Amino acid sequence: MPEAQEIEWSPQKAQLPFLTSPADETFFGGAAGGGKTDVALAWQILRRQKYAGSRGMFLRRQFENLSKPGAAIDRAHELLAGTDVYWRGDEHSFYWPNGSRLAFGHVKEEKNKFGYQGAQVDDIVFDELGEFPVTIYEFITTRIRSTRSDPGFKTKVRATGNPGGMGHAWIKKRFRIGEAMPGQVFPIINSEGKLTHKKGVFYPSLLRDNKYLVGTDYERDLDALPEHLRRAFKEGDWSVFEGQFFADWSEDRMVVKQPFVIPLNWPRWMSYDYGFKPGWACWHWWAQDPITNRRYVYRELYVQELHPPEQARKVLKMTPVDEQHRIRAIYCDPSIFNSRKAEMEGLPSIAEEIALEGVRPLFEADNRRAHGWSVLRTAMQWCRWAAGISPKCNNEVCLHNPYPQIQYFPECYAAIRTIPELVHDPMNPMDIIHQDPKIEDHAADCDRYGIVGARRVQALPTPGHARRLRRRPVRIKVA
Ligand SMILES: [Zn+2]
Repeated sequence: MPEAQEIEWSPQKAQLPFLTSPADETFFGGAAGGGKTDVALAWQILRRQKYAGSRGMFLRRQFENLSKPGAAIDRAHELLAGTDVYWRGDEHSFYWPNGSRLAFGHVKEEKNKFGYQGAQVDDIVFDELGEFPVTIYEFITTRIRSTRSDPGFKTKVRATGNPGGMGHAWIKKRFRIGEAMPGQVFPIINSEGKLTHKKGVFYPSLLRDNKYLVGTDYERDLDALPEHLRRAFKEGDWSVFEGQFFADWSEDRMVVKQPFVIPLNWPRWMSYDYGFKPGWACWHWWAQDPITNRRYVYRELYVQELHPPEQARKVLKMTPVDEQHRIRAIYCDPSIFNSRKAEMEGLPSIAEEIALEGVRPLFEADNRRAHGWSVLRTAMQWCRWAAGISPKCNNEVCLHNPYPQIQYFPECYAAIRTIPELVHDPMNPMDIIHQDPKIEDHAADCDRYGIVGARRVQALPTPGHARRLRRRPVRIKVA
């Protein structure tokens, strides 16, 4: 390769996996300023050089955002300066002496997508994917084809983006952000819920990975944003969005990184939200560290279409024998104690069915919603200054605790997946939107019961002393 072809650009560590990703669809996303556009351009330039006669396409929703000063086209000119690659403005394309071409395009309106039908492209970049609806993305990625006859050569798709755009929800779902481990390759499920033959992967991009921006005014501007936006744009936290009910949720803080064996002397209890279908039944096992008073949700059963006795048998199976008699209370969805209908038919209530299997003692949970949410959200608070993330803490009542007072073991999949997705009900901001049966609020309800119940657990005897099924929580005065 002649020397004039060499480009002065070297990837930073966090950008490397994006360059070498084996997946069909790779998403590099997260914080603003993670060097995403640069690495996407570099990836295409490297491929133009490697594969003679290849075609690349670099897309943005709006052309102005490609062509304005300092944007992707300018940046490509900088990267390619001094090489014998030339630009044709009328075609918005760079041409390589080896016959390769890199074109810049946009898809402003939904109808513009038809212009890409059958396009011959070896690789395509969607820059700022959050600006694209899934309809455009899927139309283009399923209708382009490679120009190459090399066996096994497939068109590769790379995309970059930040959390919080109009595409936030579909991107998070498609690239399993917060579900799969970063860098873990998985089969893609399309927007119709169909499993495809394509593989996808997500790599997080963080501002702190961009050595050119750390400590600059840009970083300080991001620090000055409102808390949830700062977390979204600076830390690339996809569980953050406007309307998020549990705004302090951060997987990094809320999920125990190294699960441990819970000492037998810690108080334990459980919580239970009943569901069958379309809802879910959620059971959580809790323990409290007597020194720090931090509560751990350490086990989860999340099931659908399972009758109460079957659920109860599963619960017993999941609870080791030496643990079973240490569960001091199970705080339950109060509706399961309602036996009016059951009595009329001569049947036991759900609570009775469960207790008959040996899962007890069951208590009617405190079901004041706003109160429960407030207790749960208070337990989720943590201090960004104490955690070393923020330069100062402006909250006068903050206890400067680097971790929240409730944490989840990683196996509590449903809680970790569903709790951060719940949003404020605009008609009743102290509550979540929960009227739609498709909304998965079961883990949150379960934890609302569990966290309010936690205040009583310390004073409760262990179940050896309380074998009876109780319809009402026992009232014990705590000094
Ligand atoms: Zn603080």
